Amino acid sequence: MKVKVLKFGGSSVETLEKMQFVANKIIAFKNNGNEKLVVVVSAIGKTTQNLYDNALKLAKHPSPRELDLLLSTGEVVAISYLGIILKELGIDTISLTGKDANIFTTGCFQNSKIINIDTSIINEYLNEGKIVIVAGYQGVNEKGDVTTLGREGSDATTVNLAHYLDGECIIFTDVEGVYEVDPRIICNSKIHHNLSYNDLLMLSKHGAKVIARSAIEFALDKNIPLVIKSTFKDGLGTIINNYNNKDFVGITYQNLIKLIKNNLSNEEIHDLVNKGIIIEKMKDYASIYSNEFSVDDFSSCDEFKSYDLLRLSIIGNALNNPNIRTKILKYLEDLNLSVVYSWHKESIFSIFINESIFLKTINYLYYYVKDEVNCERD
Ligand code: ASP
Ligand code: MG
Repeated sequence: MKVKVLKFGGSSVETLEKMQFVANKIIAFKNNGNEKLVVVVSAIGKTTQNLYDNALKLAKHPSPRELDLLLSTGEVVAISYLGIILKELGIDTISLTGKDANIFTTGCFQNSKIINIDTSIINEYLNEGKIVIVAGYQGVNEKGDVTTLGREGSDATTVNLAHYLDGECIIFTDVEGVYEVDPRIICNSKIHHNLSYNDLLMLSKHGAKVIARSAIEFALDKNIPLVIKSTFKDGLGTIINNYNNKDFVGITYQNLIKLIKNNLSNEEIHDLVNKGIIIEKMKDYASIYSNEFSVDDFSSCDEFKSYDLLRLSIIGNALNNPNIRTKILKYLEDLNLSVVYSWHKESIFSIFINESIFLKTINYLYYYVKDEVNCERD
């Protein structure tokens, strides 16, 4: 039987009560015939951000090595609590930091990459029947320093463990799976029961938060089966595998977008990043804050430099069709919902709007695009 790697994110373990709930869930999972279980846990709630903010109060540019040691402790606290709870419930378990688990990374700090996992220690514990708890988001470089894997790095830990252990991943989160639109924005939004790696990647690239983009790319590359489901509600969740890409995948949003020119000075970049502006391909500057956004796409758009906008991205094969894109723009125009700029590439159609019309626009768009895609299909 394959090893199952379960991941619980920060919101699933944000209180001790939730952590106890998670512990019972893990036990039920094991009792359900899953003999070999590895559990990856993120830091509790906002711990990582708080640790980072504290470091910045102490130094303008904290030592990268010391900063990583500090940031890694969030996950260490979480795995220790979970280990204590499971043992109290009579379960044979062991909690391991990234370093304990032999997760080897590149040398750099804050945005390190996993290059190998020596699974002998984990396998030894699994063979003894233990549930192995591993701290997400961290590893050790060749010097023996603790490194962290970039924000949301526990997802990278999870897919890498599944790869090196030849296992499967189940990502438990605070939503029931992957939806066409964030269900916190449109509560009737439809859940995907299955989705291709590529469609999930498109959603993630354009703002969906459900799993980190680099982890999806890795899972795609290594063909690692993924399931994304809710920690707190029963349900099948969303299965991610090599399915066909869909005609309509969903609509994502990202706010605080500033359309900028490409040739910004370092100072200008720092300035934007400090304001939480979304920039891509400047990860060195953006390190801990960065969301992702392609600046290249807008190199010819200097005139938009001063807008703070919200981007809606409509995703799916159907958006390749220019008729649909034209109809969408016309529909929004008729509703008096003004689009500042629109952009299209393959199955992505992005429109930029002012934040004040976000809810209205996304609600109208969602039902309209679904209808249009269905019509085209018939
Ligand atoms: N705790 C880290 C973060 O907040 C890693 C993670 O949650 O995956 O980014
Ligand atoms: Mg997360």
